[in-house]
Amino acid sequence: MNSQKIRQTFLEYFKERQHEVVKSAPMVIKDDPTLMFTNAGMNQFKEYFLGINDPNNKRATDTQKCLRVSGKHNDLEEVGVDTYHHTMFEMLGNWSFGDYFKKEAIAWAWELLTEVYGIDKNSLYVTIFEGDASENLDCDTEAYNYWKELIAEDRILNGNKKDNFWEMGDQGPCGPCSEIHVDIRSDAEKAKIDGASLVNADHPQVVEIWNLVFMQYNRMADGSLKNLPAQHVDTGMGFERLAMVLQGKQSNYDTDVFQPLIREIETITGRSYNKTVEIDIAIRVIADHVRAVSFSIADGQLPSNTGAGYVIRRILRRAIRYAFTYLDRKEPFIYMLVNTLSRQMGEAFPELKSQKNLITNVIKEEEQSFLRTLDQGLLLLDNVINETTALGNKTVDGKKAFELYDTYGFPIDLTALILREKGLELDEKGFEEAMQVQKTRSRSASETVTSDWTELRQDDQQEFIGYDKLDAQVFITRYRKVTTKKDGDLYQLVFNLTPFYGESGGQTGDKGYLESSAGDTIYIIDTKKENGQTIHLTKTLPKELQSSFKATVDQKQRKRTAANHTATHLLHQALRKILGTHVEQKGSMVRSASLRFDFSHFSKLSQDELDQVEHFVNDRINEQLELQENRANTYENAMANGAIGLFGEKYGDVVRTIKFGDSHELCGGTHVKNTADIWHFKIVSEGAVAAGIRRIEAITGDAVKDYFTEQSQHFEDIKALLNNPGKQPIESIESLQTENSQLKKEIEELKKAKAGNLKQELIQSAENHDGINFIGTKTDLDTKSIKDLAFEIEREMDNLFMIIGSDANDKATLTVIISKNLVEEKDLNAGTIVRELGKHIQGGGGGQPHFATAGGKDPDGLQAAIDAARKMVS
Ligand code: ATP
Ligand code: MG
Repeated sequence: MNSQKIRQTFLEYFKERQHEVVKSAPMVIKDDPTLMFTNAGMNQFKEYFLGINDPNNKRATDTQKCLRVSGKHNDLEEVGVDTYHHTMFEMLGNWSFGDYFKKEAIAWAWELLTEVYGIDKNSLYVTIFEGDASENLDCDTEAYNYWKELIAEDRILNGNKKDNFWEMGDQGPCGPCSEIHVDIRSDAEKAKIDGASLVNADHPQVVEIWNLVFMQYNRMADGSLKNLPAQHVDTGMGFERLAMVLQGKQSNYDTDVFQPLIREIETITGRSYNKTVEIDIAIRVIADHVRAVSFSIADGQLPSNTGAGYVIRRILRRAIRYAFTYLDRKEPFIYMLVNTLSRQMGEAFPELKSQKNLITNVIKEEEQSFLRTLDQGLLLLDNVINETTALGNKTVDGKKAFELYDTYGFPIDLTALILREKGLELDEKGFEEAMQVQKTRSRSASETVTSDWTELRQDDQQEFIGYDKLDAQVFITRYRKVTTKKDGDLYQLVFNLTPFYGESGGQTGDKGYLESSAGDTIYIIDTKKENGQTIHLTKTLPKELQSSFKATVDQKQRKRTAANHTATHLLHQALRKILGTHVEQKGSMVRSASLRFDFSHFSKLSQDELDQVEHFVNDRINEQLELQENRANTYENAMANGAIGLFGEKYGDVVRTIKFGDSHELCGGTHVKNTADIWHFKIVSEGAVAAGIRRIEAITGDAVKDYFTEQSQHFEDIKALLNNPGKQPIESIESLQTENSQLKKEIEELKKAKAGNLKQELIQSAENHDGINFIGTKTDLDTKSIKDLAFEIEREMDNLFMIIGSDANDKATLTVIISKNLVEEKDLNAGTIVRELGKHIQGGGGGQPHFATAGGKDPDGLQAAIDAARKMVS
């Protein structure tokens, strides 16, 4: 059965059992501070398990793109080394939200595996939770009893808390689980060792394929468990592992999911798979990682230096490193695999197809830049190695290796490998210590303590009324305290209804205040969204928590934000109109002060294009277009009517659409009633964010007025500076420029003349020490002139050893030149010598045996360096 069919069969099986087939949520999570990436199918349903919102349908099924590279579920180091863990994988799942429970979940899983997919019952094992005394949890006899109806009892195994109690994170929904394992070893091997003893023992051919979680608890901040309001089923089956079993393979990588990629890697690198352990691992790493990185980019997450982007960058770098070390690839090539990937998975995940060019370009640029880093790192490592051996040591300082790793991104395993090849050792303990120090530092900077919610009132669902109203009488339904190093104590409040917009879709959250009837005012400093609820942040907790409050949104700020949001839509429309429909939104930030819009486009915008874009938006503003809003559109209808949605955004069945004239987008943000309210639109910058991604920053309304006031003030200041009221400033500047270039020319000539004189003086000053013509002098010439001078003298004078110290621009430099014959006859090396002499000026350097330079911090040491050189020669 090919993988397409396997996926389809799963979804159809549960569809027939009244499950709604839902879309995979994006793999990169944008509006949840507690989770960076989707790590299980259940993530997108968290709000249902927690009872915050109700689902439309109590049963759901899907295939979910998951990424397990950070947080509680991190498989990164396993990936490639073994044959059944991936960074990115698909999880097939079925869910019951307070509907069916263990009985149906178990019976269906069994029927699907053994009867529909036809897996041999005698190769399957199941596990149940054995209980845990420390948590006061009993053995799951209920699950046991259902299983024993279906499978021999000696195939039902007990599992401990680590394997059979599933938790998404440190806090949140969790529960006992029942796993299904499959033994794919040969009959001969099965006869030798009992499969039951290999379950949950990291055996590559006795693996878990499906986990049925019976969600019934909520893990609290203090570690205790509380019952959830209802009982749920959450299952997850690894799609690639299922394919391995059904296609009779021994490794996920031998299935049709990975084979096309592996073939392509073999072709490009000229290495074959299934020959040597190290090469095989490298090939698996690359085949796996290119998927994870491509899907992330398609979801709108580019590699970067922070947060989720950094995780993605590290995954890609891991692949580059393996290719560099084991496949000897010093040039980018991983980007070439995107084509194969999109051909193969583009049907199920169309975002791969439509964004193929962008993904390719981004990966290529990342590869180029990391390969450059590796090159530099190799040079630096060479220096470290030389220093170490020069001192007669065999062990390289762990701190130095850490510096290479931390500052230059040079991977430690590569360092270790190179050292081993040179017969040296790495001080691993020192490295670990340095790493630990840094980890502790960054951990304590980002540490967050989140207390549990205190429930004040029962309320079904919080209502958002902020599209129509900016104030309302509200009750606090629940609150909790969150403490971070950065912000100290903050309180998060949830209301029964709210006019406050919680940060999402690139738009910042509202600010405002709460007033109690007793006249207390509490400021709401920010508003966020989590698990589908709006959370208001305050620095203090109101005194009478139970009473009713007037909640008021900061109107001025909201209005400016709305103007910027509408302008962002118009900008998007303008770009697609003027540059072309390949332009896709790749991120936006809408604040009260300004807006920022990232989009896919291959080249810098010309001034003319920028002018056109600005005009287009301002024309729409002048047309005074009315807002046409539909809050209850269906996704299909909106799309059919040409609305634009974003990749990597999670949309429900019911969507809100925003129209201004021909601009038509799916959007949950706040907008002006009429484009005239934007007043004016001005682009303030345009630049690159990554390969193929541009960023425009712009302002609207009052900010434009302030901008022009400031610009005209600058203009006045310039006129005043030029001190030439008669002339136009442009003329004055042009004549200054002409004057400047003439002066530069004159200086050049004077310098040359001076150097010519200097040359003669120096040649005459040469001291003869034992047949060596030694010249040592100090000057304030720049490095380029010194170099020219040195080579000229060297041409005119035999047996030369010259050292020139310079303190031009307050920097100390030393230049040493030695005639080539001396280098050979007397075994002199300018590079080594200048490095040694560099110590006098608190610096270092290097170069050729014939010519070398050093730079340092201390010009006062120049004379000492020259004297030391003279001593060396004599
Ligand atoms: P394992 O012990 O093998 O790491 P797990 O206990 O972490 O698995 P679950 O969290 O229960 O797995 O996830 C449900 C299913 O998803 C697993 O039964 C497995 O088939 C699949 N799965 C989990 N992690 C991975 C991974 N890194 N790559 C591929 N499939 C995975
Ligand atoms: Mg795992």
